[in-house]
Amino acid sequence: MSKITPQSGILDIALYQGGASHIDGVSNVVKLSSNENPFGPSEKAKEAFRKTAFDLHRYPSTDHSALRTAISEVHGVDADRVICGVGSDEILAFICQAYAGPGDEVIHTEHGFALYRIGALANGATPVEVPERERVTDVDAILSACTERTRLVFIANPNNPTGTMIGDGEMARLAANLPEQALLVLDGAYAEYVEGYDGGAALVDGRDNVVMTRTFSKMYGLGGLRIGWGYGPQHVIDVLNRIRGPFNLSQAALAAAEASVRDIDWAEKCRAENTRWRAWLAEALCGHGVPSDTSCANFILARFGSQDEAEECDEHLKSEGVIVRRVAGYNLPNCLRITIGDEASCRRVAHAVGQFMGDET
Ligand SMILES: *Cc1c(COP(=O)(O)O)cnc(C)c1O
Repeated sequence: MSKITPQSGILDIALYQGGASHIDGVSNVVKLSSNENPFGPSEKAKEAFRKTAFDLHRYPSTDHSALRTAISEVHGVDADRVICGVGSDEILAFICQAYAGPGDEVIHTEHGFALYRIGALANGATPVEVPERERVTDVDAILSACTERTRLVFIANPNNPTGTMIGDGEMARLAANLPEQALLVLDGAYAEYVEGYDGGAALVDGRDNVVMTRTFSKMYGLGGLRIGWGYGPQHVIDVLNRIRGPFNLSQAALAAAEASVRDIDWAEKCRAENTRWRAWLAEALCGHGVPSDTSCANFILARFGSQDEAEECDEHLKSEGVIVRRVAGYNLPNCLRITIGDEASCRRVAHAVGQFMGDET
C-alpha cells in the first residue's frame, strides 16, 4: 500500500459521466445527451474565434474586462462583480474551494447536478442530499436540512436533469431564511431558455449571501470552448478572484464569448426554436404514453413505467442512432433525459419512442 494518499473525500468521488457521442457500428447518429445547442454558436462568435488565430503568441487578458463589460451591458449586471471561468464548472469549483472544507456541509437536492457533490468531496466537505417534491426543489426541505455547519446550498434553476424550476418568490424566501454562514449558489446554466428570467441576478443585487453562475455552454453553443461566469456580492467575487488563475481563459474563448453575448438576435432565435420544439416533443411523447414534467430548459425528462422500460427504450433509441441520457445516477432510474434538437432530431426521437411503445412501425 502506498503511503502517498490524497486528501480525505477525494476517493469517494465517482467520476463524472459525460453524455455519449457515438454508437459502435451506427453512422448518422443524433446526439441528444449533453444539452448542446443544435444550431451551434452564433456566426459572430465563430468569426471572432477565427480572428484570434493571428495572435496566438500573445497572453490573454487577466482581468477579462472586455467580456465582463459585454456581460454587464447585455445582462444588466455590475461588471465589477462578474468573474469569468473555464466553464461555470470552474466557478462552482472555486466556490467549493473557497467556502467548504472538512467539517462543513454542502447542500444539494435529490436530483441536483453531479458537480455539487464532487465539489464538496474534492474539498473534504460533507455533501448533504435534500429531497425534492415530485422532482421540484423544495425550499422548506432545504431550510430544515440546514445546520450550523451548512456553508453552501446549490440549486440549479431550472434544474438539470428535471427541467423544473421554482419562482423568484420561493428563491427569495430561501435566501432570506438561510443560516448566516451559508451562501446560496444559483446555477443558471439554463436561465437563457426562460424568457424574461434574470437567473437570480436581482436576488444577488439585493442580498450579500447569493451568488449566481452562468455558462456559454448551453444556449450560446460554446461548450467546446469552456466559458462560464459568476455574479455575486463584492466580498464573494474578491475571494474567488484570489484563487482564479490569472490566465484561466484563452484569448479565443474570451473573444468568442464576447461576440456571442452581444449577438442578441441569435440568442432570441435559439430560445424561440427551443420553446417551440420542446412543446412539440413533450406532446408527441405524451401521445405515446411517455409523460414529462413541464420543462423550462433545453431538454425533457421522459418518464417511463419502470427502470426496465426506460433502459429498453434507451437500447431501442441507440439501435436507431439516437443517443439520449440515462439518469439513474440522479435518482431517476425510470427516466431518460432528451435534449431538444432541431426539428429533424425531434421528429426522429419521437418516432423512435413511438416505435418502442408500439404505436409506430
Ligand atoms: C451544463 C451545466 C453546467 C455548465 O457547465 P459548463 O462548465 O459551464 O459547461 C452547469 N450546471 C448545470 C446544472 C449544467 O447542466
